[in-house]
Amino acid sequence: MSSSYLVALGSNQRHHRLGRPRDVVGAALEELAALGTVTARSRIITTDPIGPAQRRFANAACILTSDYDPPSLLAGLKVMEREFGRRCGQRWGDRVLDLDIVLWSGGVFRAPHLTIPHKEFRARPFVLGPASQIAADWRDPVCGLSIAQHFARLQKAQRKTTCKD
Ligand code: ATP
Ligand code: CA
Ligand code: CA
Repeated sequence: MSSSYLVALGSNQRHHRLGRPRDVVGAALEELAALGTVTARSRIITTDPIGPAQRRFANAACILTSDYDPPSLLAGLKVMEREFGRRCGQRWGDRVLDLDIVLWSGGVFRAPHLTIPHKEFRARPFVLGPASQIAADWRDPVCGLSIAQHFARLQKAQRKTTCKD
């Protein structure tokens, strides 16, 4: 049975052939068609780095309809990250491509190496901003707030929401 996924994309390193991070994200949005059907894509935004990352990020989000279950999709996304030249490295570090599963039409998924909704998405403007362009009404299965509501809260309060999972 096919599922819908909200996938967040990020890049802050040049690719030897594709070029700038925003071109990497653009190419990745095309390449995701290998894992399903991309039914909506946000604009690509540029954001300041968090944690140990040095360079600015290009970020975007898309809705992917796929026959893959969540672990299989994650495996496919990791293969894609490696194909784009990502090396195993520091969490939050510089990377050519980062692909995260934010939401899944099936709701909550918990396994040792995969948690959906993504644990940090509610506090991340670089995820909620692009996501609100394409999935404003999609509700967080943990607390019931929509993407638009999470984004509005974050912008207003500039602090983490109280929704816990
Ligand atoms: P963050 O997870 O805070 O965005 P990151 O993307 O830099 O940080 P990674 O090094 O890319 O972290 O991923 C670490 C691990 O997180 C992955 O190997 C994967 O198994 C796990 N993971 C758990 N939940 C998810 C999810 N919803 N989407 C993608 N990866 C996930
Ligand atoms: Ca990430
Ligand atoms: Ca990741």
